[in-house]
Amino acid sequence: MQRTLALIKPDAVAAGHQGKIIAAIQESGLRLVAIKSLHLSTEQARGFYHVHAERPFFNDLVTFMTEGPIVAMVLEGDNAIKRWRDLMGPTNATEAPKDTLRGQFGTSIERNATHGSDAEDTAAFETGYFFAGLERL
Ligand code: ATP
Ligand code: MG
Repeated sequence: MQRTLALIKPDAVAAGHQGKIIAAIQESGLRLVAIKSLHLSTEQARGFYHVHAERPFFNDLVTFMTEGPIVAMVLEGDNAIKRWRDLMGPTNATEAPKDTLRGQFGTSIERNATHGSDAEDTAAFETGYFFAGLERL
């Protein structure tokens, strides 16, 4: 059994795609064990994406992630990290298959609708970054 952090990014929230994305999660059999809506500050977004601090796209990414509210979720299931990343599709939404969430709801390599943890250590950091133990069922 694994847990992973999923985000619905500001582009997809602004476009009203939260319901369809949550429905896709539930239809996939992943369990939604925590969920909340919030609007990240610049410092909170920088802390979340600290592994990308040296990348050329970092400042643009932080601006994007703080432009409006997001939805944060913890998903649970066997192999949840890979299952959620497979549902999302590849980073670049313009190359993502149309049966993936990024292919349906993303519009560029940056504005790609969703986030998912990429490994067990990042999943542990990221779920703890957004949710206290008491908030995770
Ligand atoms: P995420 O971590 O959000 O699930 P990912 O693991 O597929 O996405 P990362 O390489 O971790 O991709 O990049 C983090 C985020 O930074 C991407 O989801 C995207 O929003 C943005 N990003 C990645 N590469 C680029 C790029 N070359 N130009 C602009 N933005 C980028
Ligand atoms: Mg990543």
